[in-house]
Amino acid sequence: MPEENLTSLTGEKNGDTVNIDDVDRLIVVGAGTMGRGIAIASARRGIEVLLIEANENALTRSLEKVSGSLDQEITRWAMTESEKKAIISRIKGVVDFSEISDQLYVIEALPENLTLKMEIFRELDKYCVPEAILITNTSTLSITELASATERADRVIGMHFLNPVPKVRLIEIVRGLNTSVKTFHMAMVLAEKLERTAIEVFESPGYVTTRVMLPLINEAIEVLMEGVATAEDIDTAMQVGFDLARGPLTMADSIGLDHILSWMETLFHNLGAQKYRPCPLLRMLVRAGHLGVKTGQGFFRYDEEGNMISGSGQTSAAYERYRK
Ligand code: NAD
Repeated sequence: MPEENLTSLTGEKNGDTVNIDDVDRLIVVGAGTMGRGIAIASARRGIEVLLIEANENALTRSLEKVSGSLDQEITRWAMTESEKKAIISRIKGVVDFSEISDQLYVIEALPENLTLKMEIFRELDKYCVPEAILITNTSTLSITELASATERADRVIGMHFLNPVPKVRLIEIVRGLNTSVKTFHMAMVLAEKLERTAIEVFESPGYVTTRVMLPLINEAIEVLMEGVATAEDIDTAMQVGFDLARGPLTMADSIGLDHILSWMETLFHNLGAQKYRPCPLLRMLVRAGHLGVKTGQGFFRYDEEGNMISGSGQTSAAYERYRK
C-alpha cells in the first residue's frame, strides 16, 4: 500500500471524494479481447460503457462478439436473456471521441504498441475532463512513459485486467512514477465496484502476473520444441501436477501468441535476462499466423466458437522423428 495508508476507498471528484456509487459511467478505448471483457464486466455491474473502436467494421465485429459471448453464458445457464439485454443496453459503441463528456474513468485497451498508445493518450488528454483518470491495460509498457504523452501524468495509472476479464477476479493496479495517491484511490474504487481483488504494483515490466507467468509458458514451448512431450501431455502435466485451471500452452493460445511474443520481447529488452528470450517455436507460429484461439490454431486447434478440438495438439518435428 502507498505511504498514506487507505482507511477508506475514496478518490477525488472535483476536489471531493469519489465513492463506489459515483462509478456509473466509463469509457473503454479498443474493443478487442480485453476491451470487450472490461465492457461486459463493467456493464454487468450497472456501469454505462462508451466503447470506442478504430472504425465501423471493427466495431460491428466487436459488438457481435460481445453478444456471442453473452449467448455462450446463457447456454451455460450462467445468464438469463434479460440480463443479457440489460448488459447490451449499457454498452454504446462509437468510432470517435465526440461522445466523450465528463466520464471520470477512461480505460485504454489498445494493442501493445507504445507509439499508438501514446498518440491516443495525447488525444484523450484533450477530450477528457481534467478530473478524469486515464487507465492503461498494458501488460509490459511503462506507465510513466505513457503518462508523459499527457499533461496529467498524476492522473495516469495502470489497471492490468487478466483474460478472460469477466471470469478472472484479479487486477494489478500499477503506479507510475508520477501517479498520485488520489488516482490510485480512484482506481481502487473502480476495482471495488467491479468486485475484483486488487493488488498494488510499482512500475516494472510485466508487473507480477506477466513476469512470473511468461517464463513458465516460454519454457513449456521450449519443452515442446525439444520433443520432450506432446502439447497435450505438457498441459496435462502442469494442470494436474500443480492443480492449475489450465495448462501453459492452452493459456498461451487463449491469450494470443502474438501478445506472448511481444510481451517476451519487451521483458527481454527491458530486463536483459536470458530467461525472457522468446522461444524460436513461438516466433515461428506467430510468423505463420497461428496465434491461438483467435485464429483457430496455435498449440491446439479450435472450432468457430473457440472450443478446443480434442487431440489437435502439436507435437514437435524432432519428437516425431525420434518416435519413428
Ligand atoms: P486486441 O488486439 O484484441 O484488441 C485491441 C483493439 O484495439 C482492436 O479491436 C483494435 O481494432 C482496437 N484499436 C486499434 N487501434 C485503435 C484506435 N486507434 N482506436 C480505437 N481502437 C483501436 O488486444 P487485447 O488482447 O485486447 O489487448 C489490449 C491490451 O491489453 C494490450 O495492451 C495487451 O497487452 C493488454 N492485455 C492483454 C491480455 C490478453 O490476454 N490478451 C491480458 C492482459 C492485458
